[in-house]
Amino acid sequence: MEDSIRDCKLCDIFGTHVFDDRLMQERLPEETYRELKKVIDEGRMLDAKLAEVVANAMKDWAVSMGATHYTHWFQPLNGCTAEKYESFMSTTSGGGAIMEFSGKMLIKGESDASSFPSGGLRCTFEARGYTMWDPTSPAFLKEDKSGVTLCIPTAFCSYTGESLDEKTPLLRAAKALETQSLRLLHLFGDHQVKHVRASVGAEQEYFLIDLDTFQKREDLKLCGRTLFGARPPKCQEMDDHYYASLGERVSLFMKEIDEELWSMGVSAKTKHNEAAPCQHELAPIFTVDNISADQNQLIMETLHRVALRHRLVCLLHEKPFAYVNGSGKHNNWSLITDDGQNLFEPGDNPYDNAKFLLFLCAVIRAIDLYAPLLRAAASSAGNDQRLGGYEAPPSIVSLCLGESILSVLRRVAGEPGTEDYQKDTVVDFGIPTLPQMAVDATDRNRTSPFAFTGSKFEFRMLGSSMSVSWVNATLNTMVAESLDYIATRLEKSRDFDGDIVGLIREIYEKHGRIIYNGNSYDPDWPAEAAKRGLPCINDAVSGAKTLVHPRALQLFDRYGVCRESEMRAREEVMLERYGKHVLIEARTMVRMVNREIYPAVMRYATEVADSLTKIRSHHFPASSQEKRLEFLSRKLDELDRYTVQLGVLCESTTALTDMEERAARCRDVVLPLMHQIRGIADALELIVDKARWPIPSYQDILFNV
Ligand code: ADP
Ligand code: MG
Repeated sequence: MEDSIRDCKLCDIFGTHVFDDRLMQERLPEETYRELKKVIDEGRMLDAKLAEVVANAMKDWAVSMGATHYTHWFQPLNGCTAEKYESFMSTTSGGGAIMEFSGKMLIKGESDASSFPSGGLRCTFEARGYTMWDPTSPAFLKEDKSGVTLCIPTAFCSYTGESLDEKTPLLRAAKALETQSLRLLHLFGDHQVKHVRASVGAEQEYFLIDLDTFQKREDLKLCGRTLFGARPPKCQEMDDHYYASLGERVSLFMKEIDEELWSMGVSAKTKHNEAAPCQHELAPIFTVDNISADQNQLIMETLHRVALRHRLVCLLHEKPFAYVNGSGKHNNWSLITDDGQNLFEPGDNPYDNAKFLLFLCAVIRAIDLYAPLLRAAASSAGNDQRLGGYEAPPSIVSLCLGESILSVLRRVAGEPGTEDYQKDTVVDFGIPTLPQMAVDATDRNRTSPFAFTGSKFEFRMLGSSMSVSWVNATLNTMVAESLDYIATRLEKSRDFDGDIVGLIREIYEKHGRIIYNGNSYDPDWPAEAAKRGLPCINDAVSGAKTLVHPRALQLFDRYGVCRESEMRAREEVMLERYGKHVLIEARTMVRMVNREIYPAVMRYATEVADSLTKIRSHHFPASSQEKRLEFLSRKLDELDRYTVQLGVLCESTTALTDMEERAARCRDVVLPLMHQIRGIADALELIVDKARWPIPSYQDILFNV
């Protein structure tokens, strides 16, 4: 049996490029291994001597695998991963070279890094940023034709210790969540539990299009999405792409993706075609939030890299094409203890189930109190194009619990007409005043932004290109605050059972408004949500503002996740990125109209005009040519007028130095004008000679792989 498992290719490949626990055990002296485990598992300080031994073992392994370089691999606030390669080479006095990698090189890198967004946390004259080894996320090897590189996951901070990256707040929030979870668990007598970690599984959607087609579109190359494109006769209405069998080209691509990811220790598990033509999804098996966030970056990077090998391009933009679904990223989140309990799974004994309900209530309370922060975590110019379009959750955060759990809460709260659920599996809470509950883990509601799906929560608002770090840092912090609230109450309790029931009731009554099991795409839902007082944040500019709301500042500061300066920096970076994003799109649009679309339409109009004159000269009827010419010249005129306006607007908007003002101008004036221009160009595409149309159409792109 063991042999047959080992025989399979997957097992041979899996983790071969990771400096994982197995390798550490194999390559480190026993004492060093034990110390390193303490650093990793218990967050102990890392001492220089230990780092020296680990660095050496890591280098020996990497070199044996063909590595010549190493890089501190980190995630600045620009949405990408960053790496600066250093070779292991060191010269000797005799003129030779040796491979060297010290503990110091492993632990800390100094990066000039003045071009990364810092939201004003660093001025360029003191631009020092530091990368610090994160021993909790394993180092791995990246291999391509150019060679093998040892990648060391690192955090990136300023000289003064402020976070400038995605990883640092997540690590800090994980700590806060653990501390507060343990307080509650210990009240339940779970003293054996030493660690609680948020587990995350991120489902990744993407588009895959042909490289040659891609290269013919400036908008795809510069903006990652199409700024023009008439509706094709067929989109996704036949549902014939969703879960369809994979074409050979895509299948080969996915096979390589799987193998590359497996080798780097990413447990790519599911793959399938998604709803839109050319759209696909990949999901790994969940793991600790920090590692999952790193792995998701690696997944996105690998998708890009491997696609090119197949003359394909992977689009991670949230809405590359109008008329078909955009791409999201579902963030599955749960709390798991070091003794293997999933705190969101009703357990085997009644007390476990009371515990389950309390953890659930912590989430309910957190989502209601801090919904705008979750919405902010899913905010970007790209995701604005997708949210609320009846294909993704609306801009209102709500929580879907499913009927069985909701019925328990309603009964605890003493709502009339909430009779028990009589289903096969009934869970006993052991506290007489808590009703029995039928476990109904199936989630049929795919429209909810935040859904309880049996043993985890699924946040569905994230955009496909986003890092999952900040949303999990946010989620961890807000739930930590709720657990703090609950634990503080119960630690003082003299009637534990009674107070549990009281707390559940109180939280349901105060925060139950966030629970909505209905269809979130229902046009009546926004009005109902407004009646409940739930906030609706429509765009990323408003989303960014929520980060500096006094309540947000207090929350993140209190749990040591982000200081005020860091929150302000994040807001600034978000606004700046939003403005830049929209302005790049607007400038691309102006160029495409002026240099491609306008000239093409003019040439076609001239042909129609020639034809009109010639046919008339023979005294034949030419009214269709006349109508067409009239339409073409009128639309050309409009197109030109608006494009000139957009060009001027780009300049005046770029000149604004206040990032919020610039972002708001982009949202309120630039994007609506771009929408108008697109409308005109798309109307023209539908009547201009196909041979004359200068860029590939939606059909050419979407039905070509
Ligand atoms: P869907 O029905 O949305 O496709 P799946 O059950 O396939 O959901 O799971 C999707 C993702 O959720 C996967 O990445 C999976 O590993 C992850 N997942 C499953 N259980 C948990 C959990 N307890 N905590 C976090 N993620 C989980
Ligand atoms: Mg899902």
